Amino acid sequence: MGTYGRQDIVFVKGEGSWLETETGARYLDFASGIAVNALGHSHPRLVAALTEQAGKLWHTSNLYRVAGQERLAERLTAATFADRVFFCNSGAEACEGAIKVARRFHFVSGRPERWRIITCQGAFHGRTLAALAAAGNPKYLEGFGEEAPGFDHVPFGDLDAVRDAIGPETAAVMIEPIQGEGGIHVGSEAYLQGLRSLCDKAGILLILDEVQSGVGRSGKLFAHEWAGITPDVMAIAKGIGGGFPLGAILATEEAAAGLTPGTHGSTFGGNPLAMAVGEAVLDVVLEPGFLEGVQQKALRLRQGLARLRDQFPDLVVEVRGQGLLSGIRLSSAPAAVVAAAREEGLLVVGAGDNVVRILPPLTVADHEISEGIERLSRALARVSSPSNT
Ligand code: PLP
Repeated sequence: MGTYGRQDIVFVKGEGSWLETETGARYLDFASGIAVNALGHSHPRLVAALTEQAGKLWHTSNLYRVAGQERLAERLTAATFADRVFFCNSGAEACEGAIKVARRFHFVSGRPERWRIITCQGAFHGRTLAALAAAGNPKYLEGFGEEAPGFDHVPFGDLDAVRDAIGPETAAVMIEPIQGEGGIHVGSEAYLQGLRSLCDKAGILLILDEVQSGVGRSGKLFAHEWAGITPDVMAIAKGIGGGFPLGAILATEEAAAGLTPGTHGSTFGGNPLAMAVGEAVLDVVLEPGFLEGVQQKALRLRQGLARLRDQFPDLVVEVRGQGLLSGIRLSSAPAAVVAAAREEGLLVVGAGDNVVRILPPLTVADHEISEGIERLSRALARVSSPSNT
């Protein structure tokens, strides 16, 4: 179906931070499949994990215990605030599930009237009907009938607006700690801490959508760690599968109490292939020093982007981001710069608010960061004075 405005490029091979087309052209991949290929392409650990599992067992369904799910859930709960994990296949599915967790929590706690979720303008939670209603972007909702009810939208970063929106029917606040699609808006520590305490005072749940910001992308395992808070429920996907479709809902024991047998499910969720890859991703990301390495690379990238802002002050308005979830805000729409970067053999992604997202694999090498900055500089030069091209 015609859902995508695709570029006429076919990649046939990937290695590390590089992609190769069918005609042999090489691209430096600072898009990472929109923050998915956390360990780059064809990472030997992931290839080994997937091929080994492929020779053993692919799928049994959730009618039976799945050893890989138990192992990965144990790893995830040991590394985070969570006590319980539900595996699914995508970010939207994880966000939908997180909403269900919050509503059921209040239902089984004797407060069925608490079902509304406070969400943020500029958010993105996926393309299913409830996830679209949660984000509330009219562009994505148009033509799909009546919007799924139960969401109250407030401006991102505005604690007073959240306080005012909390009412007797509120079940939870759901936000991305760093808005990705919306244009790399980083929620401040004070904002996240304020949300935590507002939720605690009101007896409602804090749901974080870390689909894009999670699994090392921010320089911590999860972005909320920068603020020293923990959510009650968290949706993850993208990086945890390193390119294999995998999502998960993480929750505290208390918050997950409503999800009893029969209340939720997924045929493919937690399939042994996905579990093997998820475990291998965590093996690498949790290696001592890996996340510190991401922070150092992020600093180098940020310095390079700051130089571009100084070099092209009319075009680059601001450098944004945390860790390798970074971007530059332009004075005009990002499409021209994204296209010019492609011409220079560099893949980057547009976002809202005139932002170009720069999302290298977490395994990117220092010299590749320098190369990426060089290529982006040439792309910006093309756009700022088209006669240079
Ligand atoms: N939530 C966030 C923060 C995302 O960035 C995305 C995808 O970009 C989603 C949810 C939806 O994920 P998926 O496309 O896997 O359904």
